[in-house]
Amino acid sequence: MINRVYNFSAGPSMLPLEVLKRVQSKLLDYEGSGMSVMEMSHRSKYYDAINNEAESLLRELMHVPDNYDIIFVQGGASMQFEAIPLNIHVNGKADYILSGNFSTKSYKEAKKFTDARAAASSEDKNFTYIPETTVDSFRPDADYVHICYNNTIYGTRFTKLPETPAGVPLVGDVSSNILSQEIDVSKFGVLYGGAQKNVAPAGVTVVIVRKDLQDKWSDICPTMLKWSTQIAQKSLYNTPPCWSTYVAMEVFRYLKEIGGVPAMQKINEEKAKILYDYLDESKFFVNKVNKKDRSLMNVPFFSPSAELDAKFIAEAAKEGLVTLKGHKLVGGMRASIYNAMPIEGVKKLVAFMKKFEVENG
Ligand SMILES: *Cc1c(COP(=O)(O)O)cnc(C)c1O
Repeated sequence: MINRVYNFSAGPSMLPLEVLKRVQSKLLDYEGSGMSVMEMSHRSKYYDAINNEAESLLRELMHVPDNYDIIFVQGGASMQFEAIPLNIHVNGKADYILSGNFSTKSYKEAKKFTDARAAASSEDKNFTYIPETTVDSFRPDADYVHICYNNTIYGTRFTKLPETPAGVPLVGDVSSNILSQEIDVSKFGVLYGGAQKNVAPAGVTVVIVRKDLQDKWSDICPTMLKWSTQIAQKSLYNTPPCWSTYVAMEVFRYLKEIGGVPAMQKINEEKAKILYDYLDESKFFVNKVNKKDRSLMNVPFFSPSAELDAKFIAEAAKEGLVTLKGHKLVGGMRASIYNAMPIEGVKKLVAFMKKFEVENG
């Protein structure tokens, strides 16, 4: 018997059951090719169709304007931390908002290639809020301003985008909130994200680049990191992560069928509300994040002690509620409730938390 659990992992994370079933049904013979997508040439007509459809569906779902290109590349979001300062390199200056672990990592990588500056930070309160900025927080001759839209480890997100000086593009890491909420692509010069949270299995990274930012690379930018290399070849300059891009295409099809990003956002808001409402009324569990900056995707919470946290995590796992341990930088618990987490999973988690509170409070 197949026994699926509710997996609250921060990534790689759950995929929609319906998508897994479709992928399974086509696994051995993809559309009459007699082989699986894992086995086929990236130059085949089958893969060409997958690559094109993945691109056009993502464009449709995110309302990506015509003056942007979309590429599917390897290396994860982390490799883009290095690609960004090498691809947008005119004045050799870039401003970063430090709102958590990944934005700080991104900033540290950029320092190797450009004059990166921390324009604002919330490290003083262990990244429990989103730092406020005004247009004057940034250098008017910065090549770009970088943000991490949703902070996966600390459980915060931008609910209002920073205003940048005229002509300074905003670059956003959307690894953990892509397709979970409506994102106005036109407010950004570049958006990027690893797939393994809301899109597909690990392996593919989505990069969306405005056309005017495609020829500003530094002379030392390696061919493989240069966005224009893959843009010119429709992501087929070298062997792409075929399998993850294929599953991404199936996820995009499914998302479109259920009503696209607005429908998904509504479900995500409902899921997050169930969890936060309970955390707010509980006398046992707490969420320490600034309320207005709360993430829809990642919800860190604590019981009164580290011992009770450990007991909670162990007992929850026996109920089929798994991977609830918090990140080591934060401790406690973290429930990642990405697109593929059904509302039933969140309801079951909250019911279990209530029971645990009664028994241990
Ligand atoms: C997971 C994550 C990353 C790292 O992604 P990789 O694909 O593992 O490099 C970067 N940024 C954010 C916001 C993430 O959630």
